[in-house]
Amino acid sequence: MYNAKAYAAASDTSPLARTTIARRDPTEHDVQIEILFCGICHSDLHTVRNEWKEFMPTVYPCVPGHEIVGRVTKVGSAVTRFKPGDIGAVGCLVDSDGTCDHCQAGLEQFCPNGTYTYNSPDKHLEGVTYGGYSESIVVDERFVLRVPSNLDLAAVAPLLCAGITTYSPLRRAGVTKGKKVGVVGLGGLGHMGVKLADALGAHVVVFSTSPDKKEDALRLGADEVVISRNADEMAKHAGSFDFILDTVSAEHDINAYLNLLARDGKLTLVGAPPQPLRVAAFALIMGNRSLSGSSIGGIPETQEMLNFCGEHNITADVEVIPIQKVNEAYERLLKSDVKYRFSIDMASLKSDS
Ligand code: NAP
Ligand code: ZN
Repeated sequence: MYNAKAYAAASDTSPLARTTIARRDPTEHDVQIEILFCGICHSDLHTVRNEWKEFMPTVYPCVPGHEIVGRVTKVGSAVTRFKPGDIGAVGCLVDSDGTCDHCQAGLEQFCPNGTYTYNSPDKHLEGVTYGGYSESIVVDERFVLRVPSNLDLAAVAPLLCAGITTYSPLRRAGVTKGKKVGVVGLGGLGHMGVKLADALGAHVVVFSTSPDKKEDALRLGADEVVISRNADEMAKHAGSFDFILDTVSAEHDINAYLNLLARDGKLTLVGAPPQPLRVAAFALIMGNRSLSGSSIGGIPETQEMLNFCGEHNITADVEVIPIQKVNEAYERLLKSDVKYRFSIDMASLKSDS
């Protein structure tokens, strides 16, 4: 074991603060990574504040962060895909049994014996896993992704959650040229959804509560922008969408979007508000519409997404911050005030004594 600097929350009301955590020495299958950048996902905030306590209660201290990119510093004797000096990336998963139906299908996120990057029982050390708001991490090489060399690393980090979480449902829905796709909420996930749906050739419409994001939405790849509080603007799109991706992090009226689906249209929730959403039966019945959910993505599809981003030169739009500004960033996230993902420059942790 060795000590690593990190930022942790001590309780659901504590700010994140500097601490020291234990990391395991790399075993034969492990890769040790010096973390260069870690994105801030709204799931970090939900977890730190124990907002999902009914579904996955938070164990404190909590070190969040599952959008990790860094440099390999050490590898175990059986590691074949990485060597010291390589760039490696880690998303929301760090382990799974590799044998269940889900793992066999490349959907490790559903493995009953899987381990999330943070707040999961740690199979090697006591307590729970600690995430990427830290100077280093040790991960089984099966869960370390390769990063295309043409992409900027600070802007790559968010692909590891926001990228795969939007790529996976867009692909599963068969989004392609000629499809009309809505993206609800222009935050970290939403702005990746826009870039990816645009790259897949779809006609993309952004639904936002923030009028000041209109220009950005168009620049990011949207063909149209609807300010969702404007009922007339919403009504113009009634019954017209093949697919809508809902990325909203808070309670909202989902029926307003179900009513915009065409016949057989589908709305997929990736946003995970803690409160239940109310669904009007008629919004689904009329038009044979579907409502579904989607959870991140498995390891093979995460690598496919990274390769796709490399080919299309896609990364997140990031505001790079030092870790000392993480609590301020959380407050801004709550106000939908991020353009469009915070990426923590982990070099700032080195000088934090
Ligand atoms: P984010 O950057 O905070 O973006 C959320 C966006 O939702 C905001 O920018 C805002 O967009 C909109 N919004 C916020 N509050 C709203 C409200 N009260 N009513 C309507 N719209 C509102 O968050 P994120 O990191 O993209 O994450 C979004 C959600 O996805 C979170 O709940 C997160 O936990 C979840 N998530 C799920 C998965 C999964 O596997 N399913 C993976 C990662 C994250 P506008 O300003 O444009 O309105
Ligand atoms: Zn996330």
